[in-house]
Amino acid sequence: MTDSRPLTLTPRIEPSLQSVLDETELLHQLADGLGSPLNIVLPGALAANVEAFRAVYRRHHLRGHVYFAHKANRSSALLRELATTEAGVDVASLGELQHALGAGFTPDRIVATGPKNRDFLGLAVRTGVLISVDSLDELLLLQKSGARVLLRLSGFTSTGVQTISRRSRFGIPFDRLDEALDRCEEIAGIAYHLDTIGPPEKAVALEGCLAAIDECRRRGLPVWSIDIGGGFGVNYLADGAEWERYTTELGQAVLGRRAPMTWNDHGYGLRNEAGTLRGALGLYPAYRPVSGPGYLDQLLATPAPEQRRPLGELLLDSMIDLDIEPGRALLDQAGLVLARVVSADGEIVRLDINAGDVSLEEHGVLMDPVLVGDRREDPTEVFLLGNLCLESDLITRRKVTLPARPRPGDLLAFVNTAGYFMDFSATRALHQSIARTVAVSRRANRWTWCLDDQYWPVHGGAS
Ligand SMILES: *Cc1c(COP(=O)(O)O)cnc(C)c1O
Repeated sequence: MTDSRPLTLTPRIEPSLQSVLDETELLHQLADGLGSPLNIVLPGALAANVEAFRAVYRRHHLRGHVYFAHKANRSSALLRELATTEAGVDVASLGELQHALGAGFTPDRIVATGPKNRDFLGLAVRTGVLISVDSLDELLLLQKSGARVLLRLSGFTSTGVQTISRRSRFGIPFDRLDEALDRCEEIAGIAYHLDTIGPPEKAVALEGCLAAIDECRRRGLPVWSIDIGGGFGVNYLADGAEWERYTTELGQAVLGRRAPMTWNDHGYGLRNEAGTLRGALGLYPAYRPVSGPGYLDQLLATPAPEQRRPLGELLLDSMIDLDIEPGRALLDQAGLVLARVVSADGEIVRLDINAGDVSLEEHGVLMDPVLVGDRREDPTEVFLLGNLCLESDLITRRKVTLPARPRPGDLLAFVNTAGYFMDFSATRALHQSIARTVAVSRRANRWTWCLDDQYWPVHGGAS
């Protein structure tokens, strides 16, 4: 029996973002005036996201910094708005450090992470921002500089449980901690960031940091904080059952047991080996009921693999501050990308946007776009193709479901794309223009807009 209902993947849209989508006329005016694609950011979404993380700190009686990982979005409006909250910022390049200082962050609210060239290190040292040291070489460059440093570690292992820890190109290997400590006169804290969503791997890393702090204290180096990086994630989809159904049907399609759902039978990592489904779905788990602050809460409640007490309790008992660097999670519901429909012919819809401008596919996040204007006819399944003269320029390698057949001139909104999908991979290939970014804010009960670099937060007014 084949199930003929459309395979929708409905995005999770909170009221504020929905009310922007409801401004059909405004969105059309913006796209007419500023072109397609167009990025729209909602700085007003940030304060609540910071506060949701803070609530988890309170629940676990912990203190520490919430640093926004700037690399997730280039916007000035978002950064300037964030500067009005209590959050700090994690910068990973000279340009990001300059941007953060210019947005109003004082150096005590900034941490410099990632690989650093001499100029980046130089400005970081001169301004006195905290430096998360990425390698033993970097530590050597910083010797006698007076810099405040975190040691970023990687390659944690645990004897208590078997946990697969992939090799990372970042951080000082845990088994070279002694060498690192020999090069330090003072350390502000220990850090890690793992590009994974697996809680067991993070529990091992966090317990490893606790062990590293014990070692520091044994050497007479007092250390009072652990920075556990980012990777708390976002729940992109409204309905877990849709996600289950979609991925199940995708497997069936790969096996040839139902109509193809993707361009050239792309399997997103799954393949058909003589009638058996093999491989692994290389997708972000777009439906994630435990994500963002909830994920942090769960991690802190997780027993340490060796000591077997909740990690949050261990931090509290050792009087260690917890610092975090969420990127994606702090941008939840904070933006969307608009694209204009150029043509629609059967199941092929061409858009004035390319796969670099909205890189959901590249990041393995599957969710349907929203047809601006709330037209509802028959649900329609279409492929979305980009504006580059390239075979690979597919906005989606799968059919997406729209509530009506799109027409030339329509706008599609790719929602909740502020974290990584908006400007991270945009290029000027073929002289296509890069999307402009506008910031929208709610004033006197309506949405107003300005260009991203014109945005400065107004607080205490009628906002
Ligand atoms: C990218 C990055 C982050 C943010 O990761 P998210 O998955 O967006 O939360 C935090 N810290 C460091 C060092 C990073 O490189």
